[in-house]
Amino acid sequence: MVLPFTLTRLSPIQRSASRREQRPARAILFAIRSPLCFSSLMIDPFTENDHSCMRAALEEANHAAMRDEVPIGAIITNDKGEIVARTGNKTRELSDPCAHAEILAIRSACESINSQRIPNYTLYVTLEPCAMCAAAISFARISRVIFGASDQKGGGILHGGKFYTQPTCHHKPSVQHGLMADESGEILKNFFKKKR
Ligand SMILES: [Zn+2]
Repeated sequence: MVLPFTLTRLSPIQRSASRREQRPARAILFAIRSPLCFSSLMIDPFTENDHSCMRAALEEANHAAMRDEVPIGAIITNDKGEIVARTGNKTRELSDPCAHAEILAIRSACESINSQRIPNYTLYVTLEPCAMCAAAISFARISRVIFGASDQKGGGILHGGKFYTQPTCHHKPSVQHGLMADESGEILKNFFKKKR
């Protein structure tokens, strides 16, 4: 049935009411399209436990600096969110180029449950893992990785070989980054500034 034109056409008052009703929908659409407008609506993607674990990782990074090691700290939590491993870089102390914080934490967590795989575990690290550590995280079947600062020069997740995007990667953990990135970067900057 075709309605008479007069029934379907809105009066000026009706039209303005109709526009008002549409405003919230348009505002949401605009906010989604525009990240700048969205910032006020942004929700912290990290949990309280994520924050406290990254704080512990930062403590480990500071301890590493005191040992004159590159200040990077790593934490591993189990499926209940409990810390099962925490350490910092020890490449100098152990005369081992592979003794990055992530590798040492993975070894410790695997030993604690006598298993070569730790699925449902989360690894927190202050700096973007290098290619070696990104691969070790994958081999250990860790489900979630959270890192602080990005590493353009040595990172292997967002940078370099981007290990988790490679067809040779058989387990890709979920990755979040940027948690306490400023603090993580600051520790490294201060460490290398003193070295100059
Ligand atoms: Zn590494």
